Amino acid sequence: GHMVVEYCVVCGDKASGRHYGAVSCEGCKGFFKRSVRKNLTYSCRSNQDCIINKHHRNRCQFCRLKKCLEMGMKMESVQS
Ligand SMILES: [Zn+2]
Ligand SMILES: [Zn+2]
Repeated sequence: GHMVVEYCVVCGDKASGRHYGAVSCEGCKGFFKRSVRKNLTYSCRSNQDCIINKHHRNRCQFCRLKKCLEMGMKMESVQS
């Protein structure tokens, strides 16, 4: 078969597969899982429209989580 390289829909890093409903990297997968399991709430120090990419993804957790949800990650998928 042929190799298909997929990229994280949240930060653009190399994805490791589909997690919680969206193709994502291990970093975003772990971040999303932690956030949901621990019921963490974040706040944005900017206008809630921070750029989330491979290099800046840790800058704003609020916007990272927002993007995870926008890109199709499901909180319900983490609970089980
Ligand atoms: Zn990612
Ligand atoms: Zn932000």
